[in-house]
Amino acid sequence: MSNPRLEIRNISRRFDALTAADDVCLSLQQGQVTCLLGPSGCGKSTTLRIVAGVERQDSGQIFVDGALVCDGIRSLPPEQRNIGMMFQDFALFPHLSVWENVAFGLRGAKSARKTRAHELLERVDLAGYGAQMPHELSGGEQQRVALARAVAPRPKIMLLDEPFSGLDDRLRDGVRDEALKVLREDGAAVLMVTHDPAEAMKMSDEIALMRGGRIVQKGAPYTIYNSPADRDAASFFSNINVMTSKVKGSLAQTPFGEFFAPGHADGTILDIVIRPQYLRIDFDRAGQGPTPTDSMGQAARAKVQRARFLGQNSLVDFKLEQGDILTASVPSVFLPKAGTPFWLLAPRKHCYVFPRPA
Ligand code: ATP
Repeated sequence: MSNPRLEIRNISRRFDALTAADDVCLSLQQGQVTCLLGPSGCGKSTTLRIVAGVERQDSGQIFVDGALVCDGIRSLPPEQRNIGMMFQDFALFPHLSVWENVAFGLRGAKSARKTRAHELLERVDLAGYGAQMPHELSGGEQQRVALARAVAPRPKIMLLDEPFSGLDDRLRDGVRDEALKVLREDGAAVLMVTHDPAEAMKMSDEIALMRGGRIVQKGAPYTIYNSPADRDAASFFSNINVMTSKVKGSLAQTPFGEFFAPGHADGTILDIVIRPQYLRIDFDRAGQGPTPTDSMGQAARAKVQRARFLGQNSLVDFKLEQGDILTASVPSVFLPKAGTPFWLLAPRKHCYVFPRPA
């Protein structure tokens, strides 16, 4: 197999006592989009800046197409790395026209640079805007010019640091989709930083979830969402319900029956986690009669505490007979009165079992 387009090998960086990047490893193939995702201060930008060459690492190496770019001692300057960048404060040159902005990083004859600039403006849906000045464009249009400028020199790697966070919600989706299309067409490997899980899920082939300078989990959006590594990884993507459970004979005792908990000693306290949209409400039996048996496991009797309509879904808080309070998300208008009884089900495949964090 060919070398990855970008390989980050065991990168670490300390600032005094703080480890901003801790043994970070990532590999991106041509055309792949990977998101560094995590809360503020977890080391996303430091990692990106080291790849860009504007920050140095203490240890570890970066390779582009198999060639060493930096190893903490030797370091190729940023302008020789063939890496494009797009940041939130992308600042176009105000005294240059739109096409001149796009052509800024290009070498060669003016006519060839102009042709390439106009070709890119067409690709970002700004054909005919070349002669305008940046201040005559909307925020979203300026962002697209910045994208065209970043892509113009055909970089092997594109680094995006929250480039869409300055745009309002309405614009953001369109600009983001367009940017992704252009980047994928060009075949660059894209390493993007965001703290927004929805953006990471939409944009990337792979998500690398960071915490305290480390990558705690990486995988495709579906995998990382549905098989989180720990409770914090689960809660980073959505609200979660957590039930406390005690292990007895390799089984975790829960209001929904027993869950397999191999490898956990008797008496260990575990967290059983389920996302609100996966909690099932048995609408047919209205919490009456004997415990229904169901292929999804044992049902638990619960009473509605409160219900709220949020537009696309309703959130309903239930109090289980055993005392736990769980929230269910229902994709429609569902506003039962407080005190209404229901049977709830927690499908095993959507429940995650984690040791309780110390
Ligand atoms: P955000 O989403 O807020 O941008 P981040 O995940 O990108 O956060 P980094 O900017 O990489 O986080 O910072 C990681 C940690 O390293 C933070 O605690 C930050 O304060 C610290 N840090 C980053 N750069 C420096 C520096 N030049 N000097 C000292 N500390 C730094």
